[in-house]
Amino acid sequence: MSKTEKPVAAKQPARPTIKAVRGTRDLLPAETPLWNRVEATARAVFARYGFGEIRTPIFEATELFARSVGEETDIVSKEMFTWEDRGRAASEKNASLTLRPENTAGVVRAYIEHNLGESGALQKLYYIGPQFRRERPQRGRYRQFWQIGAEVLGPPSSGADSPLRDAEVLEMLASFLDELGVRGWRLELNSVGSVEDRAKYNVALREALDPVKAKLCLDNQRRAETNPLRVLDSKDEADQEIINALPKIADFLSPDSRAHFDQVLAALDACGVKYHLNPRLVRGLDYYTRTTFEFTVPSGDATGLGTQNALLGGGRYDGLSEMLGGPRAPGIGFAIGEDRLILTLQAQAEADGASVAASKLDAYIAPLGLAQNPAALALAKELRAAGLTVEVGDGSFKLRKSFEIADNIARNIVLLGEDEVSTETATVKTFATGEQQKVATNELQSHLRI
Ligand code: AMP
Repeated sequence: MSKTEKPVAAKQPARPTIKAVRGTRDLLPAETPLWNRVEATARAVFARYGFGEIRTPIFEATELFARSVGEETDIVSKEMFTWEDRGRAASEKNASLTLRPENTAGVVRAYIEHNLGESGALQKLYYIGPQFRRERPQRGRYRQFWQIGAEVLGPPSSGADSPLRDAEVLEMLASFLDELGVRGWRLELNSVGSVEDRAKYNVALREALDPVKAKLCLDNQRRAETNPLRVLDSKDEADQEIINALPKIADFLSPDSRAHFDQVLAALDACGVKYHLNPRLVRGLDYYTRTTFEFTVPSGDATGLGTQNALLGGGRYDGLSEMLGGPRAPGIGFAIGEDRLILTLQAQAEADGASVAASKLDAYIAPLGLAQNPAALALAKELRAAGLTVEVGDGSFKLRKSFEIADNIARNIVLLGEDEVSTETATVKTFATGEQQKVATNELQSHLRI
């Protein structure tokens, strides 16, 4: 550097920071214990009902979702993260790929691809993982969100289309929510009939919508053209009166569909699972047939969810396997919005005044002086191997600083000075009692567990 040149580093503007993409978020250690509890409960409950875990890829061929979820749905028409693959192999060139917006299509694809129906046995599969939709982010609605879901499917001989399966899935969900301690959940239930019933209903719906269409909001006018069933999903205040007066799907169910639904209700009654019939619950995905359902929690502050109060949704999809080129494999499934379930649990715990404070470590080991660092790390190794939760400080810290940190994160502080190391002891202070004593190293484990 010449004499006239000045160092430039100090003058450079600070680089802008990089933030998580809108609609995505980080889950920090203060929150993840609750996520883990929810997932562990799901795994335990689902296992009791004979479900096994399946993990499918996070991206799939775009056509999988177009064919199953449906071209005209909001999800496929405007919410998918889709890109053209730049793979070099001829088979990969220009392939259209999509981050999964939901997981049922992937599970059914895997069922077909691995001939899971071949044995004739009923398949009970569950998954836990992120899904992706380009939605307008708000509380309880994200672009990357988590779903815990399950599917029951199999060849007709496996009894996969039995109403008993619908009721079993619903009863399992009720038990899961109860076991987690979710209060005030409500099961909304409907039957959208067979594909044929729905086709007849669609004709009637179009006829009824025709003279009133112009009075609806623009979104509903579009839906009335492309997918009239979706008008029933609309929450637009001004359109409610017109929507409530539209024909009901219940009046278009064939005797078979009616009998199936009645048997679902009878089995739920036998299990003591309460439900509310909601003739407008048609759900946004094309593949649903017969039973459809949603579990909601009361909206508002008590749940922290506002208008996004649907905790989970699902239904029967008897024709989905065939839509994807597979064998007949009736099925029923659901997807729980894990983010919303967590928000509900947090809000309900807060309303109870329950503290959600993270549990404290068993011990914080404070080496007194750098020379004690190796002995401190070796002691931490031993205690951790015995199953204790331990953090180690650093010999450069002042005693006061070590105490401050330890008091925040641990139940005990273990002081290791030169004297302690040479006599194979440690000085332990228990914060709750204020008691401080010398403990032989070989008795530390039992001392710290109390
Ligand atoms: P769906 O796959 O649309 O039937 O959604 C099933 C459940 O996933 C819903 O009831 C929500 O709880 C949850 N969910 C759907 N979309 C989102 C989103 N963008 N953010 C958070 N949760 C969502």
